Amino acid sequence: MIIGSHVSFNTNQLLGSAKIAISFGANTFMFYTGAPQNTIRKEIDLDLTKEAHEYMKNHGIDINNVICHAPYIINLANREKEDSWNFSISFIKNEINRITQMGINYIVIHPGNSLKLDRMTALYNIADAINNILDSDTKPMILLETMAGKGTECGINIYELKEILNHITLKDKVGLCLDTCHLNDSGVDIAEFDSYLNDLDNAIGLDKVKCIHINDSKNPIGSHKDRHANIGYGTIGFDNLINVLYNSKLKDVPKILETPWVGKYPPYKLEIDMIKSKKFNPNLEQDLEELYKNDPNF
Ligand code: FE
Ligand code: FE
Ligand code: ZN
Repeated sequence: MIIGSHVSFNTNQLLGSAKIAISFGANTFMFYTGAPQNTIRKEIDLDLTKEAHEYMKNHGIDINNVICHAPYIINLANREKEDSWNFSISFIKNEINRITQMGINYIVIHPGNSLKLDRMTALYNIADAINNILDSDTKPMILLETMAGKGTECGINIYELKEILNHITLKDKVGLCLDTCHLNDSGVDIAEFDSYLNDLDNAIGLDKVKCIHINDSKNPIGSHKDRHANIGYGTIGFDNLINVLYNSKLKDVPKILETPWVGKYPPYKLEIDMIKSKKFNPNLEQDLEELYKNDPNF
């Protein structure tokens, strides 16, 4: 299984991220190139990048499975303020530039918020923005994330994702990132995940799925909330998430945990243990305290 979590990029860029991932027992990871809620970015350090590649090779992380996530404040869906739409486009272009320098293949993007626009216009704006971002030389693939339907989020069902993809010119440079919490909150029953996959396969094609965010949800199916829970600690439940993780149709797709920290500790090492052993840990909080209490990093 290709499994990892969201990790920080703040210490030594890709090298720091890879080291954190290894400490969690992961063989991949996802990072933001800066704070997810702003667009302030540093230059990529090519020496650190080289070192990171060496480190990953020695520790069993295939760079081809590493994922970048774009900041969630950019909005490709709304073009009422042409300036901010253009800013979003140029920011993602730069972000793609940065990750190309690091040899990263995938960037996950939230499709955007329609705000006061009608849905169709918003979906076309997203496709239009992506057509502006991509050119025939672009190496990384853009992955549109399935969204929970909070506020005016776009990309909240198969139909909307298909509508966006249909209007994209360079189709082989755009794929999908499923998020189990978002799917649940948008109205998909994860207990019937195979039937969702069938629908997705018929409408779009499962080969488009290049990443899966594995999160439990704090809210019931169809709640349109988007609040992640630790695996087995939410309304989706451990067994349903295990079925997603071990689904044979998605075997080669990187799985990324974006579950919340428990107090001051990242839960990922113990969640990855749970996933590998297929055994739920009901003592996550106590076991994390035990694991990290003497760790000077916390
Ligand atoms: Fe996301
Ligand atoms: Fe996600
Ligand atoms: Zn979310």
